[in-house]
Amino acid sequence: MNPDAPEKRIRDALDACADCDTCRFLMDESCPVFPKLYGLYDREREEGCPVLAKDLRELSDRCTLCGLCPCPNIREDLIQGKTAVVRKKGMPLSIRLLADVQRFGRWGTKMPKLYNRILSIPFFAGLAKRIAGIHQDRSLPQMPAQSFFAWAQNQGLDRTIELKSSGDLKSSEKPKAAYFAGCTAGYLFPEVAKAAVEVMLRNNITVHVPPQQCCGMPTLLEGDDTTSLEWAGFNLDNLLKMIESGFDIVCSCPTCGFLFTVLLSEKAAYSRDYQESIGAGPDEIRVPGTSPAFSKELSKGAAFISLRKSLYRNILKDDGFFSSLPPLARMELSTHVSDLGAYLDRLHRKGRLNTDFGPIQGRYVYFAPCHQREQGIKSPYPNLLAQIPALSVRSVGGSLDCCGMGGSLGLKKGFHRESLRIGEPLIEKIRRTDPEAIITDCLSCRLQFTHLLPLPVYHPLELLFQSYTAFFEISSPFD
Ligand code: SF4
Ligand code: SF4
Repeated sequence: MNPDAPEKRIRDALDACADCDTCRFLMDESCPVFPKLYGLYDREREEGCPVLAKDLRELSDRCTLCGLCPCPNIREDLIQGKTAVVRKKGMPLSIRLLADVQRFGRWGTKMPKLYNRILSIPFFAGLAKRIAGIHQDRSLPQMPAQSFFAWAQNQGLDRTIELKSSGDLKSSEKPKAAYFAGCTAGYLFPEVAKAAVEVMLRNNITVHVPPQQCCGMPTLLEGDDTTSLEWAGFNLDNLLKMIESGFDIVCSCPTCGFLFTVLLSEKAAYSRDYQESIGAGPDEIRVPGTSPAFSKELSKGAAFISLRKSLYRNILKDDGFFSSLPPLARMELSTHVSDLGAYLDRLHRKGRLNTDFGPIQGRYVYFAPCHQREQGIKSPYPNLLAQIPALSVRSVGGSLDCCGMGGSLGLKKGFHRESLRIGEPLIEKIRRTDPEAIITDCLSCRLQFTHLLPLPVYHPLELLFQSYTAFFEISSPFD
């Protein structure tokens, strides 16, 4: 293949995995990429059918950046290859519409009645899906009457800092959290983001909702790195100001959390700025010695392996998705972002969680989504939900189970069937436990579960909030 072809990096990823072969069986059920990758490779080797540039583009379209595969460089090669293709050939309008959840949410929540009315008419709903490349079987979420961000503004949560001087906030003993809600909860499921705020307030946490843009994951997945970098840069600046004012940053969306805590700082430790900051010698690269690579301890310089720079400089370098943003700032933000479940669980371990929970009856299952598992924070919610009297929660799904939705990819006409195939083993496990409702912190999983099962789906924070208000009745979305 021409070394300048935008698909070259995807071809290199294919060759690397074909040589290694580990994921041929390891990932055949849970990943849409590997069965196709080995199929293309085997066909080329056994039947002499060359892998074409078009095959490689389709292969990269299958990566949902779920993070389940053993080697981070493979998913990065696939998405960087896709980005090179988009730079050269542009992005179709349907993909541009689907990837911009933020714009869709901002428009929709300006005129929710009109949006919902139009989409209740089958002809217009079908037309809208065709324009956006959405499979006709997928239902589109209803637009809420008010976005979370408008609600937060009405509550004064965007002015917390103005209401008190930053000096007071910085010195106060009370925990302070800047809440990054994300677009899906912010615009499509505001009840989840409101529950997050209510739970924090009931734990005596000062809550601030800072200016925020989409975390950038949906556009990154579609190869639009320009938009992702613009938004990531905006969030980096604004969230670092919050940290400077003494705030912790919390996310209720595991995908936003994965982007901030894993992707944003990936490889930042190989940057010159960081190596200088930890006093690496002229022919030395200090490599963090444990995984996840950039944990708090490592950023303090706790554990390093020293390698010769002359041998490794071309392999260990800061050339990931976000390498154009300042590496030290990326690491600083990554180490200050917490999944809200993990944040509350830490309060609980310190004996500072408000455990004034009322009972909730019912048989629930909890699924820990991929992007939460890949943050390396274990699974904080089962422990928190166990504090709710009378509630029966069974964890379902193993370390390689995935709902198959892949953000908004599962909505796509061309990915719909594959999305259902990947999700089927997990759906079967849920069916076997015969629950009355499902709990998961990922709102993409929520869309998939709602599509496939006649059960209500909740974020764990919704249950915690409802338990604080003592009475909760399971309601079905199909009533
Ligand atoms: S992702 Fe890593 S472990 Fe899996 S086949 Fe590719 S190179 Fe091997
Ligand atoms: S990130 Fe997920 S979808 Fe992409 S190659 Fe890895 S396992 Fe497959």
